[in-house]
Amino acid sequence: MKKIYLDYAATTPVDKAVLKEMLPYFSEKFGNAMSVHSFGQDALQAMDTARTRVAKYFHAAPGEIIFTSGATESNNLAVKGVLKSYHSKHKVKPHIITTAFEHHCILDACKAAEKEGLAEVTFIKPDKEGIVSEKEIAKAIRKNTIFISVMYVNNEIGTVQPIAKIGKIVKAKNSERRAGFDFPIVFHTDATQAINYFDCDVDKLGVDLLSMSAHKIYGPKGAGMLYVRKGTRIRRIQDGGDQEYKLRAGTHNVPGIVGLGKAIEILHKNKGNDAQKIKILRNHLISRVLKEVSGSRLNGSRIKRSPNNANFSFQDVEGEGLLLSLDMEGVACSTGSACSSGALSPSHVLLSIGLKPEQAHGSLRVTLGKFTTKKDIDQAVNKIKNVVERLRKISGNILNDYYSAK
Ligand code: PMP
Repeated sequence: MKKIYLDYAATTPVDKAVLKEMLPYFSEKFGNAMSVHSFGQDALQAMDTARTRVAKYFHAAPGEIIFTSGATESNNLAVKGVLKSYHSKHKVKPHIITTAFEHHCILDACKAAEKEGLAEVTFIKPDKEGIVSEKEIAKAIRKNTIFISVMYVNNEIGTVQPIAKIGKIVKAKNSERRAGFDFPIVFHTDATQAINYFDCDVDKLGVDLLSMSAHKIYGPKGAGMLYVRKGTRIRRIQDGGDQEYKLRAGTHNVPGIVGLGKAIEILHKNKGNDAQKIKILRNHLISRVLKEVSGSRLNGSRIKRSPNNANFSFQDVEGEGLLLSLDMEGVACSTGSACSSGALSPSHVLLSIGLKPEQAHGSLRVTLGKFTTKKDIDQAVNKIKNVVERLRKISGNILNDYYSAK
C-alpha cells in the first residue's frame, strides 16, 4: 500500500538538493564556525552564504538574521529577550498583546511571564473565521505595551492574519513615544506556517522580529531563525559563547544552517508555482469533502487561508479515532487535539473560534505540499469518506447498545 502524506504543516521531507549541500558539513567540512583555523573558516563561509540567502528572502540585512534551533527557540527568545531588555531599565510592569490561538510556545511563554509577575498579558480572540482584527489589537494597546506577537498563518486552521496592517498601527503608536526614552512596542510575528506561501518582506510587514523553522520548508529539523530588526531592544536568554551577534550562545548547527539557506534559496525560485498548484488541489479536496461527507464542516475562513491547509470537523466523529483509522489505511493527517497527561484536550485554536468542546475534539487537519498529487487527494477523500461512515456506525451501535441495556 502506497502511503499518502498529508501532514506538511507538521513537517516536510528534506529536499534532495538541500541534503546534498548539507552532507559535507557532517564529515569532511566538520569545523566549528567559531574556530580561526581553515576548518572553522570553511564552516563560517558556508554559514555566511546561508545568512545572505536567508536575508535576501526576507529583504533584511545579513546581520539581522539570528540562527536558532527552530521556531520554538526563536519564539522563546522573542518573548523573553524583549522582556529581559525592558526589565533591565524600567520599573512599570510591562504589557504584552498576543492572540488566543498562537502556537503553545508563544502562549505558554506569555502565560509564564504573567504568572511570574513579569508582565500583564492580553490574549485577543480571533473571530469565527479565524482572523484576528487589527482594530482589536489597536484597542488593546496601552501606555505600558512593549510587545505584540501575532502569528502570520495559524498552524491548525491555516488562516492568514493582517500582519502588515498591525505593523502600520504599531509604527504609528511608536511615533507618539519619545525616541530614546520610552520603550517602543516591539512587533513580532511567528511566520513558521507562512514562509512557503506568503510575502515575508519584513519592511512590508512592519515587523521587528520574525520566527521560522527550516523543517517546514523542505529543510532539516533543528534549524531555524529569528529575524531581529537593527536597533530592536532584545537581550539574549541563554548564557555562553558570543555566537550570533551575542544573541544566541551555543555552537552553530552548521549542516542545519547550510540546509536552511539552501531550502530558502529553492523556495525563493519556485514559491509562486508550487503555491498555485497546491491551492488547486486543496480546493478540490475541500469541495469533495464538503459535498460527499455528510455532517462535515470546514474550520476557518475558506478564502483567507494558506493554500495548503484544510481543517474539517465531522459531526459525531472523534478526531483521534479518525486519525488512527486513516493511518491504518495509509493516510497521514493530523488533528488539533493534544494528548496531555493521558486526557485528550480539545484544540485551543478551535475553541478560540467558537467551536464547542465536542466539535473541537473531532477535527482533522489535512495539509498538502509540493509532492502532493491529485491521485493522493482523490484516494484520501475516498478513505476519509469510508472511515467517517464506519466510525459513525460503530459509535451509533455503542450508543444503541448502551440505551437498550438501560
Ligand atoms: N510556530 C508554529 C506556527 C508552528 O507551526 C510550529 C511547529 N508546529 C512552531 C511554532 C514550532 O516549531 P518547531 O517545532 O520547529 O520549533
